Amino acid sequence: MPISLVEIRELTKKYTLSGGFFNSQRRIIHAVNNIDLRIFKGETLGLVGESGCGKSTLARLMTRLEKPSSGFVNFKGENIFSYDKEALKAYRRNVQIIFQDPYSSLNPRKSALSTIKEPLTIHRIGDKKTRNKVALEIMAKVGLNSQQANRYSHEFSGGQRQRIGIARALVLNPELIIADEPVSSLDVSIQAQILNLLRDLKNDFNLTYLFISHDLNVIRYVADRVAVMYLGRIVELALNKDIYDRPLHPYTRMLLAAVPSCAPRKKEKIIKIKGEARAESDKGCPFQNRCPYKAEICAKEEPRLEKLDEQSFCACHLTGSIQES
Ligand code: SF4
Repeated sequence: MPISLVEIRELTKKYTLSGGFFNSQRRIIHAVNNIDLRIFKGETLGLVGESGCGKSTLARLMTRLEKPSSGFVNFKGENIFSYDKEALKAYRRNVQIIFQDPYSSLNPRKSALSTIKEPLTIHRIGDKKTRNKVALEIMAKVGLNSQQANRYSHEFSGGQRQRIGIARALVLNPELIIADEPVSSLDVSIQAQILNLLRDLKNDFNLTYLFISHDLNVIRYVADRVAVMYLGRIVELALNKDIYDRPLHPYTRMLLAAVPSCAPRKKEKIIKIKGEARAESDKGCPFQNRCPYKAEICAKEEPRLEKLDEQSFCACHLTGSIQES
């Protein structure tokens, strides 16, 4: 039985947008809408969806950079939004984030070694000599050498900068890493190196990953389970193999059909993702305006994320009755 490291329950984050200078009406946007999700210890959970679907808001909630409108996130059984200052500090040691853009996430005035050891200084771990030693050891683990320790970020390539970002995230020996589009700003040739590095480090450091990406090929490569997000909701959750071999939700099918494949797989009917997203005020399924399978009930009731078996969940009224195309 897998152990839950993180349990997200009924998590919602709403923003109120003003209508602008000529419009006094305000709009409410649900960036994250009533999400239930578990992350098991030792797994890589892939979170995939188009940009703007709420993936990064979820990451910001999980790192307590934002507070939810409702719901909670439990880490090892404790609600992170009830932490006091000390508990929050300990949580931030345990949960680290790797950012998308290694160019803007590093301080240009700090050397690689200073950047990597900074979290040790903030958390007052070890003396100067110990911090340098630990930081150099982590540099070696991520494929950087000691001659590079005193170089500044502009002296590194994009892939090397992301290695510095990874080393900085690892230096506190966290349990959970939230990797938010960690390879999307890198060249394709470098992406594979960084993905392989992250896979190796997961084993070496006994890590758990929440791996966020818009790229289904990346998620396929790294994830044990995959959660598909659409307009702030999880619409499908399943084992990696099941998501890619027998996607159930029409949105997952469309995402997969839109992925360019170089492998000679079975002939796929390419379906373009088209249509407008549903307005917040509309009833029914959030995907109805783009769904080729829409039925009468879809306009009336929003489908819930239903459990199909131990590992598979889908939020669609027609789950199981949509034929392979
Ligand atoms: Fe499409 Fe209806 Fe399923 Fe929504 S509930 S994805 S509209 S078939």
